[in-house]
Amino acid sequence: MTTDPNSLRPATRLIHGGTVRSNFGETSEALFLTSGFVYDSAEQAEGTFNGSVEHYQYSRFGNPTVGMLEARLALIEGAEACRVTATGMAAVHAALLSHLKAGDRVVASRALFGSCHWIVSTLLPRYGITSEFVDGADLAQWRAALSRPAQLVLVETPSNPMLELVDLRAVADLAHAAGAIVVVDNVFATPLLQQPLELGADVVVYSCTKHIDGQGRVLGGAVLGRKKWVDETLQPFVRNTGPALSPFNAWLLLKGIETLALRVAAASRGAETVAAFLAARPAVSRVWYPTRADHPQHALAKAQMSGGGTVVTFELAGGKDAAFRAMNRFGLIAISNNLGDSKSLATHPATTTHMRIGAEERARLGITDGVIRLSVGLEDAADLTDDLAQALAGA
Ligand SMILES: *Cc1c(COP(=O)(O)O)cnc(C)c1O
Repeated sequence: MTTDPNSLRPATRLIHGGTVRSNFGETSEALFLTSGFVYDSAEQAEGTFNGSVEHYQYSRFGNPTVGMLEARLALIEGAEACRVTATGMAAVHAALLSHLKAGDRVVASRALFGSCHWIVSTLLPRYGITSEFVDGADLAQWRAALSRPAQLVLVETPSNPMLELVDLRAVADLAHAAGAIVVVDNVFATPLLQQPLELGADVVVYSCTKHIDGQGRVLGGAVLGRKKWVDETLQPFVRNTGPALSPFNAWLLLKGIETLALRVAAASRGAETVAAFLAARPAVSRVWYPTRADHPQHALAKAQMSGGGTVVTFELAGGKDAAFRAMNRFGLIAISNNLGDSKSLATHPATTTHMRIGAEERARLGITDGVIRLSVGLEDAADLTDDLAQALAGA
């Protein structure tokens, strides 16, 4: 007897969702490391190409291991369909470019991952697609921007690195009234802490590189949405432009997902502990963590998220010198621009990930020279606070 995957509870979907056993009856998902597939007959090949026969053709279009990952991610998200890509940026790029054409208009929150910002501000206008940024937290700016027709809205919530939130329900209503679909970059929330589709979003994108792998091993991306949009809009773009995810990386991501709930819960608990510790340090002028009472949008965080996530951002009163001194004294915490790893990683956004956007835009986003973004991993939180204590004492 096979169980209806839709009847499974969320934790079980992470383990069993999408698994298809081969005739060998393997327990763990099989790795189909193959670029092509063979046909029993010329007629079967013909039928595969004209769509009357269901058969894998070529791993740029689809692959059994990759397909298991897509089915599992769709089940976790509660989405009708999913396509995975080689990186998170390939997912964002495919979601946007497959939907848009010359003459269209995009509205996005200003606080976007650097490369997402570049696509919207620099790439899209080259193809005759106009774009406009708004302060994501300011509904009046969304209302003004969406009082004119638009085709796509892109938001990231919580945002990198300042953990600013966008009211997804309110923005989705405004976007739909303007004729736009809403694409949400849900990386910081993970599929477990926020369900954008339930809040009115049309498409959700992930960098699987972050918590979905969660162990700093591979790059990957995912786009999730309605079956009709995925089949008719996204899939032709992905199939013909080729951002395919390697089956090996898909297999690692499948294995990563099995522990996603445990890892996100543990790292989020660690992040809460670290945020509370930092907030009490005199050298720290400010701490941002979505569900803390001192976050300006914590009521919204409580309403649309079921947890604050694994990233804590804080500002040292002593500016860049203090930030660099502290980071250079870290023992356990590593300096890295990645996040969502089992190892805790710290970034100085002003001089690395957000260096290119310029001082003026950084000031607008609140990314001062004293700001450090800390991606909390799976270490014992007491070891992290010990490391932060000694680093801040020296700073
Ligand atoms: C990392 C990241 C991306 C890009 O993903 P890659 O896998 O690095 O291509 C996009 N958005 C957010 C919020 C991210 O953190």
